[in-house]
Amino acid sequence: MERDLTCIGCPLGCAIHVSGEIGSLNITGNTCKRGYEYALTECTHPVRRFTGTVAVRGGELPVVSVKTAQDVPKESLFAVADAARKLCVDAPVTIGDVILPDVAGTGVALVAAKHVARR
Ligand code: SF4
Repeated sequence: MERDLTCIGCPLGCAIHVSGEIGSLNITGNTCKRGYEYALTECTHPVRRFTGTVAVRGGELPVVSVKTAQDVPKESLFAVADAARKLCVDAPVTIGDVILPDVAGTGVALVAAKHVARR
């Protein structure tokens, strides 16, 4: 495996190079341990935090921003987005409210990232 990555851990955006095989990867270019862990995760089991919106019934806004409470496997993102798209919650919604406790079988909750008051 040979991969070039840009670390997303901070605005520095270090250019990281990964070579070798799973179990014996050689990671260079990172300035800190966070970058090493990012590269290792990205090459072995990539994860992402989902952000999106869910429809709101009876709210002063038609949708509420949501995110997964933790990172989810990258390959689950489409299923998470699809689950979010099919949801509709009643206003009011408070930041931190659990919208769906186990989104798309990931074991991770989908939570509100904004307040939406009742209309
Ligand atoms: S390796 Fe460390 S310093 Fe470089 S971008 Fe990642 S988090 Fe920032």
